[in-house]
Amino acid sequence: MDHSLSPTLHNAAFRALDLDWVYTAFEVGPGAGAGAVAAMRALRLGGLSVTMPLKTEVARAVDDVTAAAAALDAVNCVYWRGGRLIGDNTDGAGLVWSLAECDGVDVSGARCLVLGAGGAARSVVAALGDAGAERVAVTARRETAAAHAARLASGAGVAVSWDERGAAAADTDVIVNATPIGMGDDGASPLPGVGFGSGQVVVDLVYHPRWTSLLADADAAGARAVDGLGMLCGQAALAFSRWTGLMPDLGVFRGALISELPASG
Ligand code: NAP
Repeated sequence: MDHSLSPTLHNAAFRALDLDWVYTAFEVGPGAGAGAVAAMRALRLGGLSVTMPLKTEVARAVDDVTAAAAALDAVNCVYWRGGRLIGDNTDGAGLVWSLAECDGVDVSGARCLVLGAGGAARSVVAALGDAGAERVAVTARRETAAAHAARLASGAGVAVSWDERGAAAADTDVIVNATPIGMGDDGASPLPGVGFGSGQVVVDLVYHPRWTSLLADADAAGARAVDGLGMLCGQAALAFSRWTGLMPDLGVFRGALISELPASG
């Protein structure tokens, strides 16, 4: 199966907390999401993480979904409450939480720009809206997708044309790249030639490489550059706390990831 970083992350945190838990990855094909939820119920597993393309199937198979999972029609973690299986979506909330916890960035009242309108972008747009962002501009090369995603931002969303994204970035406090541009070793940036400001926060969800061209440009301009490990750790930390009732040590999470991921390339 595809290499998942989640076992490394969660098993390191279980060890650090001396918890007798183990996290393992199973390859579950499309159409088998409900079966995986039934297995959790039958085997009394402590929790599930869910990745694409199973997030919507699993949302239909659990007993209840949280408001975040309902808005996105996508579940990324399943946990027990009162004998019922709850489907949650901690992706966007994990980023918002990690920004506050690790980077001292409070997005309430912030003017935000999200690049992309896929699964990650939609979760971030919804979480920024929930957290009280003043404006959540969404830009994507398919304008209808951007408009749909913008509707998730609790009334703060607005769609911006892909060609106007550079101008939109100038008038923004927090920028989030939720496209794959910059992944791999081509050095591409979703905002080429854009001058950043020292008060801006620039987040790249791409984490392979960790240090992308977008982050290098932001850092060179004195903006705060936040790599993709923030969201990866944040969504996992919230899931971990739903399962175990404990918060993991983010330093342990990050250390485990850094040992698995190259800094560049
Ligand atoms: P997705 O559902 O496939 O969405 C990707 C979005 O980027 C779509 O809006 C897509 O537009 C757009 N896009 C793709 N290639 C583009 C290009 N060359 N130019 C302009 N727009 C382009 O993917 P996703 O799951 O949201 O993931 C997006 C990125 O976030 C990936 O790099 C992924 O690794 C990363 N990610 C990181 C984390 C984390 O924890 N750090 C979590 C989730 C995802 P179209 O619809 O037109 O193709």
